[in-house]
Amino acid sequence: MNAVRFHSHGGPEVLRYEEVADPVPASGEVLVRVRACALNHLDLWERRGLPRVTIPLPHVSGSDVAGEVVSSSAANVIPGTRVMLQPGISCGRCAACLSGRDNECPQYEVLGYRTHDGGYAERVKVPVENLVSLPAGIDFRQAAAFPLTFLTAWHMLLTRAHLQRGDEVLVLAAGSGVGQAAIQIAALHGARVFATAGSDQKLERARALGANEVIHHYKEDIVEAIKRFTDGRGVDIVIEHVGEATWSKSVRALARGGRLVTCGATTGGKGAVDLTALFAKQLSVLGSYMGTKGELLQAARLFFAGQLQPVIDRTFPLADAADAQRRLEGSGQFGKIVLDVS
Ligand SMILES: [Zn+2]
Repeated sequence: MNAVRFHSHGGPEVLRYEEVADPVPASGEVLVRVRACALNHLDLWERRGLPRVTIPLPHVSGSDVAGEVVSSSAANVIPGTRVMLQPGISCGRCAACLSGRDNECPQYEVLGYRTHDGGYAERVKVPVENLVSLPAGIDFRQAAAFPLTFLTAWHMLLTRAHLQRGDEVLVLAAGSGVGQAAIQIAALHGARVFATAGSDQKLERARALGANEVIHHYKEDIVEAIKRFTDGRGVDIVIEHVGEATWSKSVRALARGGRLVTCGATTGGKGAVDLTALFAKQLSVLGSYMGTKGELLQAARLFFAGQLQPVIDRTFPLADAADAQRRLEGSGQFGKIVLDVS
């Protein structure tokens, strides 16, 4: 099969489109023909190389996959079935897994990250429990654009930050994968949503997705805008994934009893919290990583019913994965960048 791999860490130029052996599924695994694979920032981190993380080389990235079952050792999985893939892989036997918190499994891994080759390829293998069947009306590109970011935003808002109807929610970087997902999920659950972005065009699209108010983060101070929109109160929840560049503003934008939930640190991992404000305002600072298999199935029902819709920025052929990653690195996108593998 053809795949895009990197043999050493570096810029997008280290990605090579080349012929490689098909993956060989073990017992309990399924071989899937990849039809579309969406990009995530994780792909960039691992290609550049991470301190303290060893990635066996050469490596195939790609966590968000949709395609068709080729073969399976499980009797009830029919070849040709159209599927999208759960991006989280866990042991299935530990207390966390069996309590439905599989993203807390000590052996938790993400498809396409570290030891699991992913979807920048014509074939991928996954455990049978990672298959999610697709209804006829959902195309492969849409399906590939859904799992990781909607799962992440769902877990952040509903499970970690306990979103309630009527809550006021600030979503940073509306054009990012997590941003577009969080706006839709929060709006669908009855929140009043504020979204930030760096261009008027992106702000307009954020409104179309369900943001009630928008903030141009290059022209306006986020904290001042939030105070203005909320009569000085602040927001109940901040969806943070930007990191150092926005952290202190995110903390200051919180109302009393507010929850700041973070799933990423694209601009750097250092952030301070004023402890006096933390206790006096009864703030919560919450970490969030991926989400559970059950949560993805819950979110998928709303996707299949047309109530959540992943936004696709652009598609690229698999062979042009390096250009696709350059687009993601340039931050010009609104929504997901998808590799077309059919
Ligand atoms: Zn486990």
